[in-house]
Amino acid sequence: MKIAQLIKGGSVAIFGHLRPDGDCVGTALGLYNYIKDNYPEIKADLYLEKFPESFNMIRYASEAREFCPFDKIYDTVFVVDASSEDRIGAGGREALKKCGFSCNIDHHVSNPGNICEVNHVVPDGSSAAEVLYYMLEPDKVSRQCAEALYLGISHDTGIFKYSSTHRSTLLAVADLIDKGVDFTRIIDETYYHRTLPQTVVTGFVLMNVKQALDGKVAYGYLTSEQMKHFGVSSLEMEGIIDAIRELEGNEVAIFMYPLKGGYKISLRSKNKVDVNVVASHFSGGGHVKAAGGQAYGDPETIIARLCEYIKEQL
Ligand code: 5GP
Ligand code: MN
Repeated sequence: MKIAQLIKGGSVAIFGHLRPDGDCVGTALGLYNYIKDNYPEIKADLYLEKFPESFNMIRYASEAREFCPFDKIYDTVFVVDASSEDRIGAGGREALKKCGFSCNIDHHVSNPGNICEVNHVVPDGSSAAEVLYYMLEPDKVSRQCAEALYLGISHDTGIFKYSSTHRSTLLAVADLIDKGVDFTRIIDETYYHRTLPQTVVTGFVLMNVKQALDGKVAYGYLTSEQMKHFGVSSLEMEGIIDAIRELEGNEVAIFMYPLKGGYKISLRSKNKVDVNVVASHFSGGGHVKAAGGQAYGDPETIIARLCEYIKEQL
């Protein structure tokens, strides 16, 4: 399926998921750059919720608006990296209801495949950015579009190390490098970089890391008071789960931080546990080895509930 066949009419809106990550922003900006580069006659708008400051190195990132006005009607709506209707951010759910045509580009196993009119979902794709890359004409991909896609693929593969990294992933990345992408800069400045408060708070979480189920689970969390104390926002939580995951012996790593009166849960699995299944009991989903959800109540009680579902699979 090629993008050219999916642009119907003269106006296009692009949406991602709530709390956009590198893959979401990279895919949305990749598509936005591609349309602006190759279809100047199309009026394209990009809607993304607030994302990490560092992603602004990608061209046109500053053109993203945080919310789509309710009275806007688009000929075509693209929804990228979002696996369910309730995950669509920036007013995209409303825009979907009114648009002429819609297309979902995604890679989550938990995606039911019915969010849009056309649902291009590749469950074993490394990233939505890789899925999008193979929908584009390689000759029409500019360096700036390639940079956006590189951001997406590199982030969602944990810099090309997760088991979702396939031959097709690396071939796509080879093509992107050929376009002149400054990959060292993208990785250094968007993935491995941390502000001072982020560095300190990561250290704090690691100092307080705990284990459950005989060390098969490693977990950590932050309370609202602690987030306030360290001066960090929910946009600065990326990377902490990976630091917890590095503790030897764990099969599942858990990190939680406050969200809307409850906790946002991040889950990572090494081998035995399908965390998408675990997350499905906590209003969430994702992938077999990386998933998320939310829960309310005391953090240790939430952890105990999570451990019950994890134990069933160990
Ligand atoms: P993270 O832990 O980095 O936030 O998310 C890991 C994976 O799980 C991502 O692919 C993300 O899309 C998915 N995910 C995270 N939170 C949720 C959620 O609340 N609902 C669903 N369906 N997926 C989630
Ligand atoms: Mn993704």
